[in-house]
Amino acid sequence: MTGYKTEQKKELISFLRKNSHRAFTIDEMCQAMNDDPTLISPPGKSTVYRLIPKLLEDNTIKQFSSSTNRRVYQIVAGEGCSSHIHLKCTKCGKIIHTTAEVTTTLCQSIASSNDFCINTGETVLFGTCKDCL
Ligand SMILES: [Zn+2]
Ligand SMILES: [Zn+2]
Repeated sequence: MTGYKTEQKKELISFLRKNSHRAFTIDEMCQAMNDDPTLISPPGKSTVYRLIPKLLEDNTIKQFSSSTNRRVYQIVAGEGCSSHIHLKCTKCGKIIHTTAEVTTTLCQSIASSNDFCINTGETVLFGTCKDCL
């Protein structure tokens, strides 16, 4: 039984990593996992409900309110997160992953004007997202 549960948790995390730019309600998460042909056995809704508090506890995911005031979840660190800068909304807690271009432009401009090399994966800029503006 333990092995099966671990598998489901892994599937859920790998799904969220792939979709690290998105925040999902539990319903959307289940729907999207069922639609994802790469998942061998997408966890069912009851499993997701059980797993979410655990993932929140160990800081794998973050919870915040969407613009429509629903409870949504997003992975903290997705694929390739060490190579770009993150933006964090101080109002709702949403994490935005910048593109490689944005990261490169920003890093190069700081490097050339301040002689400073940014550690991209650990850098978070705080501000307000478009939903909260
Ligand atoms: Zn990222
Ligand atoms: Zn926000």
